[in-house]
Amino acid sequence: MAAGEVQANSFVRFENVQKSYDGEILVVKDLNLDIPKGEFLTMLGPSGSGKTTSLMMLAGFEPATHGDIYLDGRSINHVPPNKRGIGMVFQNYALFPHMTVAENLAFPLKVRKMGAAEIEAKVQRALEMVELPDMGGRRPAQLSGGQQQRVAVARALVFDPSLILMDEPLGALDKQLREQMQYEIKHIHENLGVTVVYVTHDQAEALTMSDRIAVFNDGVIQQLSTPDDLYERPQNSFVAQFIGENNKLHGKVKKITRNKATVELDNGGEVTADAVNVGGIGSRTTLSLRPERVEIAPKSGSLPNILSGEIKELIYLGDHIRTRMSVAGNDEFIVKVPNSAGNKPLAEGSTVKVGWKAEDCKALDPMAI
Ligand code: ADP
Ligand code: MG
Repeated sequence: MAAGEVQANSFVRFENVQKSYDGEILVVKDLNLDIPKGEFLTMLGPSGSGKTTSLMMLAGFEPATHGDIYLDGRSINHVPPNKRGIGMVFQNYALFPHMTVAENLAFPLKVRKMGAAEIEAKVQRALEMVELPDMGGRRPAQLSGGQQQRVAVARALVFDPSLILMDEPLGALDKQLREQMQYEIKHIHENLGVTVVYVTHDQAEALTMSDRIAVFNDGVIQQLSTPDDLYERPQNSFVAQFIGENNKLHGKVKKITRNKATVELDNGGEVTADAVNVGGIGSRTTLSLRPERVEIAPKSGSLPNILSGEIKELIYLGDHIRTRMSVAGNDEFIVKVPNSAGNKPLAEGSTVKVGWKAEDCKALDPMAI
């Protein structure tokens, strides 16, 4: 593709974007990302991984050190924030305390020099979208934290932006309210068809809400995919560890046949796994294995990978029994045993076989032990 030419289905585009605050360290290294119109895309990663910086560059509050950002086919490098037509919600994006809710919502419309009747209609519609139709006359201090955050969402929606950016908007809310708001924001997105770029460090939140997730670490997108693909097919150990629960086993590649690797574990035993991200024979690898894919006491011959482990702790969780084991030197090896009638009772301190399919185990880049 020629420089400056934008992919047809790309609404937001980061092209070779870099950012340094001090002229030395790149906190965003080489960001390339295409977001189609209407998508809910989440930037997910640990603190300091460059998510907010990327969002601020898209909003126009931070200049990129290098590279280009496009919105709807147009380079916006030199477009000031208030001319980008982007709605924004932040964790601590305070409402004006001396204004009523309706006045807060009217503010961005007045700035845009809209007429009074149109402002009133848009404010009311935005309040209905966040299910606060009767709260226009209140001041922010007369609302709960969750209601204030809904008003902040309404304020971002009120001028019909085609793009909304949200940076940890639910971080200050308690768990129950946060989960409720996740669904509400997701439904608003579905109803309006607006494009959303959402930032969070909470992987469960990202999995719940997103069409696609860009997993950030160290200023680099580690993997960009759908929630289920990130969970089922992590491309490296960072993603395997960051998304969902993960059991790690360390070893060396002994053989590679087609897409399968035979791995000799450090503590003895052999495992066959998908060869996702491994070097040649003899190279170190870390295996990734999800807790619900491990079978306890499998029928002999039914699974290609069988090891023994000691049961350290059983936690009854109703629908499953969370079983912490010691397997091949890993004392935090977790197995989720479904609570079904036929299962034999397990005993702490006993040694049992555990087994899993080759395709449920991914051989990835070596993690530090
Ligand atoms: P995240 O949102 O993923 O937590 P940030 O984008 O806020 O990450 O930060 C990425 C890196 O840039 C961090 O090392 C952070 O300390 C640094 N950083 C962020 N904002 C600034 C700033 N205004 N000036 C200098 N350094 C900053
Ligand atoms: Mg941040």
